[in-house]
Amino acid sequence: MTYKIAILPGDGIGPEIVTEAEKVLLELRTGFGFQAELLHAHVGGAAYEAEGHPLPASTLAVVRDADAILLGSVGGPQWDGLDRALRPEQGLLGLRAELELFSNLRPAILYPQLADASTLKADVVSGLDLMIVRELTGGIYFGQPRGIRTREDGQKEGFNTLVYSEGEIERIGRSAFTIAQKRDRRLCSVDKANVLECSELWREVMNRLAGEYPDVALSHMYVDNAAMQLVRAPRQFDVMVTGNMFGDILSDAAAMLTGSIGMLPSASLDKNGKGMYEPIHGSAPDIAGQGVANPLATILSVAMMLRYSLDRADLAGTVEKAVGHVLDKGLRTPDIAADGAQVVGTAAMGDAVIESLRELQ
Ligand code: NAD
Repeated sequence: MTYKIAILPGDGIGPEIVTEAEKVLLELRTGFGFQAELLHAHVGGAAYEAEGHPLPASTLAVVRDADAILLGSVGGPQWDGLDRALRPEQGLLGLRAELELFSNLRPAILYPQLADASTLKADVVSGLDLMIVRELTGGIYFGQPRGIRTREDGQKEGFNTLVYSEGEIERIGRSAFTIAQKRDRRLCSVDKANVLECSELWREVMNRLAGEYPDVALSHMYVDNAAMQLVRAPRQFDVMVTGNMFGDILSDAAAMLTGSIGMLPSASLDKNGKGMYEPIHGSAPDIAGQGVANPLATILSVAMMLRYSLDRADLAGTVEKAVGHVLDKGLRTPDIAADGAQVVGTAAMGDAVIESLRELQ
């Protein structure tokens, strides 16, 4: 089977890091019998410059036809003055909406070689490997009614609506159970069922789904406790599933446990497992064009793509192993370099991963 992979480099360091991830895909093609067609398209500021819109019709046609999408990053100060509808981030939001990418996967992995980068003690976080599954298209960020109104007593009040339908909970639940099946088969659902009716329904649906996934152990945790446990003993978790707002907050906290945003991939999936894969960091305009950006988050996004959209967990493991070997050898881009490390640039880091892949062949 030949997969179609859409490649959207975007802005800032996006093209530099995506070039390295693409080298990995090409190496899998030549050295590991992986069959893939790579299709390139613009997104974000680059698409605005080329075609006058951050998500042009030509890009939509490419991503709709693809089995998976690899995205670099979008944004930059030169486009901050544009109308909201033309700003680079609309390209990203548009992709999520058009492709109905409701399940956001945010792993927090701390390679033992980088344990000192965390603000937590190495013995608490070293070897951390957890996955937060965040509902991305519903909940309080989208619920209606919303707004700011003036009350009868003349005071203004702001209001938002937290709403999840059974169907929305079910589909994020299924996505999370399926992901847990590909990992250590432990799923912790995070809610606030002691206070919120919406969470009560969330918990009821998760419990119902658990019957369909007897190989996965489901547990529940209130969000305040989950926040505490994440910084107290984060290695207790395998997969966590939660709503949009709780997930927004917890996934950033979990990312910071690892101490380096240049290392963390992410994915957003639709109900069939088709997904968009991207590093969690932005376009880093401060270092764009200097050849110093860390490409590993993007390379690890390729590994996630192989595991979650292309059903090639074997190759995903190979790519992750290759990244581990490069770290073992002591190679570091500046963002993850401690004293005495061998500091390399973006392309040299990508080349080192290719070399490790060849050693694993
Ligand atoms: P950022 O993630 O781009 O950068 C934050 C800091 O981390 C910077 O100092 C940067 O140099 C560093 N950094 C980020 N990625 C790195 C890498 N791979 N290697 C080494 N260092 C790295 O966040 P920001 O500065 O707040 O935002 C910059 C632009 O990116 C803005 O236009 C913002 O809107 C956009 N953004 C895009 C996305 C996305 O495309 N998904 C996400 C966040 C921010």
